Amino acid sequence: MTSIDLRPDCTRCAALCCVALPFDRSSRFAIDKAANEPCPNLDRCGRCRIHSSLADRGFGGCVAFDCFGAGQRVTQEIFEGRSWQDDPALLEPMARVFLTATRAHECLMLLREAGSLPLSITDEARRAGLEAAVAEAGVSAEAIGALRRETFAFLASLRGSLPSAVAARSGGRGGTP
Ligand code: SF4
Ligand code: SF4
Repeated sequence: MTSIDLRPDCTRCAALCCVALPFDRSSRFAIDKAANEPCPNLDRCGRCRIHSSLADRGFGGCVAFDCFGAGQRVTQEIFEGRSWQDDPALLEPMARVFLTATRAHECLMLLREAGSLPLSITDEARRAGLEAAVAEAGVSAEAIGALRRETFAFLASLRGSLPSAVAARSGGRGGTP
């Protein structure tokens, strides 16, 4: 079992989801926004100006989004508490690492959820091995890409023993492909 915290702590994050992720105007987002473009609803302190009324203002996709703790990990552990808002040169690298970290954390979340299932000894060994490997891979995009494919293949191999809610959970702002 890894100790990586999968609960988002927005107070320790440089609002990475509000800059890194793109979204299209739709029922979930009131505007178009490109990747690596700060959301116009973000204030200078990194807070959402419409946080208390996101759904009413047409940003239900923001309410549904979960970075699985990737935001504060990238901000605090990898960029040592710095922010793209203070140093614009950090925007692209922070966004890039955030996307990889979110994919990794999503895998960890799914693998932990799978750990609560009555798996065979073989499946549990594979699950635990994958969880450890994802944690050890850090934010290597290449390694996480391969492990993500392996994770989803493993989860598919469980053939319906996963609750549908587990299989359906993914990033709400377009997911983390
Ligand atoms: S990236 Fe995660 S921790 Fe950061 S603001 Fe978004 S939801 Fe919160
Ligand atoms: S509407 Fe608020 S929560 Fe959503 S991306 Fe913009 S600043 Fe972030």
